[in-house]
Amino acid sequence: MELRGKLLDVSGLKVSFYTYRGVIKALDGVEMWMDSGERLGVVGETGCGKSVTSLAVMRLIEQPGEIQAGRVIFNGKSLLELPEEGMNRVRGGEMSMIFQEPRSALNPVMKVGFQIGEAIAKAKKISIKKTYPEAKEMLRLVGLDPDRVLNSYPHELSGGMSQRVMIGMGLATHPKLLIADEPTSALDVTIQAQILELLDELARKMGNAVLLITHDMGVVAEFCDKVMVMYAGHSVEYASTVRLFEKPMHPYTGGLLLAVPRVGRTDELKAIKGTVPDLVDPPPGCRFHPRCPHVMELCRTSKPPLIQVEPGHYVACYLYGDKKEVREDV
Ligand code: SF4
Repeated sequence: MELRGKLLDVSGLKVSFYTYRGVIKALDGVEMWMDSGERLGVVGETGCGKSVTSLAVMRLIEQPGEIQAGRVIFNGKSLLELPEEGMNRVRGGEMSMIFQEPRSALNPVMKVGFQIGEAIAKAKKISIKKTYPEAKEMLRLVGLDPDRVLNSYPHELSGGMSQRVMIGMGLATHPKLLIADEPTSALDVTIQAQILELLDELARKMGNAVLLITHDMGVVAEFCDKVMVMYAGHSVEYASTVRLFEKPMHPYTGGLLLAVPRVGRTDELKAIKGTVPDLVDPPPGCRFHPRCPHVMELCRTSKPPLIQVEPGHYVACYLYGDKKEVREDV
């Protein structure tokens, strides 16, 4: 089996949610991969499946959701085939996750010191009492005063401090991969920059990879080595961050970049026309086709595969590859 990423390789991942409105086909064959120590940004509009992808990788999809197909290879293990016990060891061990709302991820009735200790104790199979020196060290590392924070309840901390605690908890077990789901969106702009700097500094120091889920192209530009662009449950473009900004190939990525404000930008910001499709009844073929200025007949019926169009640059669009001769707009 050939892997595209040495640390994580996700292929053909499909997830659906069974609701009263019908079956929401949230992920339809997601592809994603990364090497050790790398930072991959997963970017796209709200509802495109970014967070569902990260939850599926952690195998945290709950009813009414279901992982229906796909393969997730992480650090040599096939996660979708692991027994629950093995998966529990992976979570909070080799792989951990921080969330958008740090305060709701912390238990409001337990002191922070206990919660960090619990995470370390679970991963190292030691008693919570023995974890305090490490918990203190971890709080120092994330720039907090351990003597104050260890004895605090989550409501006594600001949003930024809570996110620092979550980062500390996420990294306390020295994971190979930290998944950060919109870690700065609930914070003030100045605090956002501090949290990104902290993630950057700690990832360098500890050598862990970061999978960053975000809707913010500015955050991607600043933090990520590579980017996967998602649209309506499909992976549509994957490239190094530099190349993606230099030469976006998928029409959706092009649209996303035209909608990003920048200092000194003189051209008009353009919103992508139309709206994100309802995933209970998504458009057939390329899910972007109702909004795409280059749509062709083939796009309406057949889903374009993610193909490599230049070294390290992958696109799922019929404007590229051997089907490009059917283009109607050239
Ligand atoms: Fe547009 Fe067709 Fe490419 Fe989809 S496959 S992005 S509809 S050109």
